[in-house]
Amino acid sequence: MSQPHFWHLDAQYALWHPCTQMKDHETYPLLPIQRGSGIWLEDVHGHRYMDAISSWWVNLFGHCHPDINAALQDQLQTLEHVILAGCTHEAAVTLANRLVNIAPKGLTRCFFADNGASAVEIALKMSFHSWINLGQPQKKRFVTLEGGYHGETLGALSVTHVPQFRKAYGPLLFDVISVTSPDAYLRLEGESSEEYALRALVEVETLFAQKHTEIAAFILEPLVQCSTGMRMYHPIYLTKLRALCDHYQIHLIADEIAVGFGRTGTMFACEQANITPDLMCLSKALTGGYLPLSCVLASEAIYQSFYADHPSQKAFLHSHSYTGNALACRAALATLNLFEKYQTLQNNQRLIQRLADKLAPFHDHPHISDVRQCGMIAAWECVADKNTQQPYPAHERRGLKMHLQALKKGVLIRPLGDTVYIIPPYIITEEQIDWLLSNIWDIISEVSTHR
Ligand SMILES: *Cc1c(COP(=O)(O)O)cnc(C)c1O
Repeated sequence: MSQPHFWHLDAQYALWHPCTQMKDHETYPLLPIQRGSGIWLEDVHGHRYMDAISSWWVNLFGHCHPDINAALQDQLQTLEHVILAGCTHEAAVTLANRLVNIAPKGLTRCFFADNGASAVEIALKMSFHSWINLGQPQKKRFVTLEGGYHGETLGALSVTHVPQFRKAYGPLLFDVISVTSPDAYLRLEGESSEEYALRALVEVETLFAQKHTEIAAFILEPLVQCSTGMRMYHPIYLTKLRALCDHYQIHLIADEIAVGFGRTGTMFACEQANITPDLMCLSKALTGGYLPLSCVLASEAIYQSFYADHPSQKAFLHSHSYTGNALACRAALATLNLFEKYQTLQNNQRLIQRLADKLAPFHDHPHISDVRQCGMIAAWECVADKNTQQPYPAHERRGLKMHLQALKKGVLIRPLGDTVYIIPPYIITEEQIDWLLSNIWDIISEVSTHR
């Protein structure tokens, strides 16, 4: 008898997949990927799929890019990894300097970790500990936005406000203060997204006035709240929030894990509000989608609050075994080189415009509402009735059906509920954008008429 193929879900299948009800895969087969090249993924049967979600938003320049591959091969010849406490190495030093140079002015120090949630944990601990070092131990509360997502370890989950991720773990999480999201979707009829963002700030101002002595930091995703459904808001919120945080001595933590590295059209989303956060978390696209790596960029003031003679016990005692991994740092350096080689930020403007042009007809689709775009992120809601904004009953799982239908057409998407979005790698061409959106139009039309 022949062995079952590796992708067959049976009693021998040891692999437990992330964010997945495994039983679903009794009905919907897993997609067994064999290779990737540029924007395309290829399965074991030789079928190709356009990676329209950059493999969970991490990939920027396509799969198996020759430059990143070459950098990794070179690094493999010299140093794969070394402990980063007591030792240092060129790739980590160079990367830290380059990140500080491209980051909003005022972020001067770079602390590495190996995934997004860990970067968030570090930022929270740094803020809290920094206030202790400055003699303000009562500043220990965190403020978050409704709908905010910051990862799924317990600390990161505590400041996450997406009900489906939190529900089961509520009793394990620490208490945070959540304020209304500036999400433009929530604005009243006739209200602009800017007016709504300013209105949402009133609540923050009242909160800060009352509780600033106990608040350490405000953490948020700048411009786009991605995991909750690609919710977008006006940059005025960030500009004004920065001023409020300064006035009340509260740290601003920008979680740019998803929006950093050009996703919103600028290198970092904070640039569009002309602000510098006190702490900035980066991960996902940092290595071009190759290897796990994250970092927290910190202001000089925060760094200096830890800098003291040893007996003071002010040091930041946090570490991960693979902190500053040399291979991951080299992949990140090669990725930053590609931004220069391809003039990515300038050239993406053409792609962003093409995306806007091809999205325009979506506004009139009878089952699509709230079409929105921020740079290289486009999203919309699939609804049963556009006029009443009536959603589909959740049990119909329309988003899942769209994912399956898209696979048949050679497109990989992964809707969040009934929110469909695309986050393509930057190597996508204008012709490929046309192809992708015309296919997605068809997919939505087919699935929305299913009974
Ligand atoms: C993905 C994400 C995280 C968590 O990163 P992981 O590497 O998945 O732990 C945190 N914050 C934001 C905004 C994210 O999109």
